[in-house]
Amino acid sequence: MPEVLSKPSAESTLLELDERLKGRPKICSDCGLCGSSLRPLMAQSCTFVQNHVAEVELRLHGRTRQPGDELLFGIYREMYAARIPKPPSNAQWTGIVTTLGAKLLEQGLVEGVLTTRAVPGTRFAPQPFLARTPEEVRASAGNKPCISPGLSLLDEAQALGLKRLAFIGTGCQVQMLRALEPRLDFTKLYVIGIPCSDNVAYPDQLRFLKIISRSPATIVHQEFMQDFRLWMRHEDGKVEKVNFVDFPMDKIGDIFPPSCLACFDYPNALADLTIGYMGAPFGWQWLMVRTTLGAELFNLIKPDLEFTPLTVGGNRREGVSRYVGMLAKKPGRPPALIRKFVAFLQRWKGAKGLEFARSIIEMKLLRNLQYLRQNFPTHEGKIVPYHVYEALEPYAPAYRQAFGREMEEEKRKGE
Ligand SMILES: Cc1cc2nc3c(=O)[nH]c(=O)nc-3n(C[C@H](O)[C@H](O)[C@H](O)COP(=O)(O)OP(=O)(O)OC[C@H]3O[C@@H](n4cnc5c(N)ncnc54)[C@H](O)[C@@H]3O)c2cc1C
Ligand code: SF4
Ligand code: SF4
Repeated sequence: MPEVLSKPSAESTLLELDERLKGRPKICSDCGLCGSSLRPLMAQSCTFVQNHVAEVELRLHGRTRQPGDELLFGIYREMYAARIPKPPSNAQWTGIVTTLGAKLLEQGLVEGVLTTRAVPGTRFAPQPFLARTPEEVRASAGNKPCISPGLSLLDEAQALGLKRLAFIGTGCQVQMLRALEPRLDFTKLYVIGIPCSDNVAYPDQLRFLKIISRSPATIVHQEFMQDFRLWMRHEDGKVEKVNFVDFPMDKIGDIFPPSCLACFDYPNALADLTIGYMGAPFGWQWLMVRTTLGAELFNLIKPDLEFTPLTVGGNRREGVSRYVGMLAKKPGRPPALIRKFVAFLQRWKGAKGLEFARSIIEMKLLRNLQYLRQNFPTHEGKIVPYHVYEALEPYAPAYRQAFGREMEEEKRKGE
């Protein structure tokens, strides 16, 4: 096994990706495990070595996923669209995640909350942080849209003798945490998951904003919105919006780490409670209660929330099938007029609400399956979880036509 470097997390997230992951396996999201004393457990715990989705689902739920939405969203008991009516000003959306983390500490349900604040002097460089007070959790609100070694602080939590902990993190971090959980010494571990589309190393994030924005230095908040645009809010309160189809991919290049291109857990399916936005109507947050602990978390935050019905709009099938065809072609940027038309169609005709969430999860599964097949063909049987092939089954004909091979061939080999 290659030597694994451990670096202090505060500085490591400022490094270029290559330098940061030096000595690591080629597919690594720097989840933090290998920067901790748990490193010897990497081979058994890393989802990019061997995924443990079915095993963890059996442990958490006593079953694996049923056909339908669970194949895409993961196992859930209840699903809501909700928001905090008066959100804290530093929140990414309405601050449900950090308000919940703060409440856990206020009510003495946990002794610490593992969260991610910004490296001092930066807006978006992530620094994993073990918060011990509600104020510290609230201060960590807002996305730092970069890969972050959150699990590195499990050492600190264990050294302090904490027995009741809440962890807030992305899908890959949660996958490793769940695989490790039976070996950890916590009596209570609440896992609050945020969905995660794609992520980048911090220097790549800075480069991306420089290319995309008219004023990268003044951006205080950014989000990839359901209207197929990136919204960037500046210090003066103005919001700059750029259509996804207008991103100059030739200039941006391959900024996503191999881990995010080999990741099959967009909705953070192994969390107790997932809190995102993409399945909710515009302006609302999307909550999936998954476990008994998730129900406990939800009941704790419920009095702070207002609710709206979940909605479904449009039909994703045709668009996602077209996407399969696009995956097989060389990426290129259409002329400006066509891009304008595509952006218009996406906004007005595109899938909405839960159908939007289904479509972007499917597209990520398809893109990543293809990425693995092209770049790490021997890893497919270990990294791709069982549910992916069944979830993508409706696109098998489009896949066959685009790539001249079967979508499910790896699964069939194992049968
Ligand atoms: C890289 C990234 C991509 C995302 N993509 C999607 C998406 O496609 N669809 C979707 O529905 N939701 C996505 N989310 C989640 C979403 O943007 C919000 O974070 C979530 O809805 C919570 O909002 P909030 O206002 O309740 O959070 P807040 O109360 O503002 O709290 C945000 C929490 O996020 C944590 N956090 C911030 N940055 C990181 C990081 N880099 N790694 C780990 N934890 C971090 C902080 O610790 C904090 O606790 C993404 C988040 C990140 C970090
Ligand atoms: S993703 Fe995490 S567990 Fe896997 S190699 Fe990287 S740091 Fe280690
Ligand atoms: S896309 Fe997946 S691998 Fe990348 S940071 Fe998000 S959860 Fe982790």
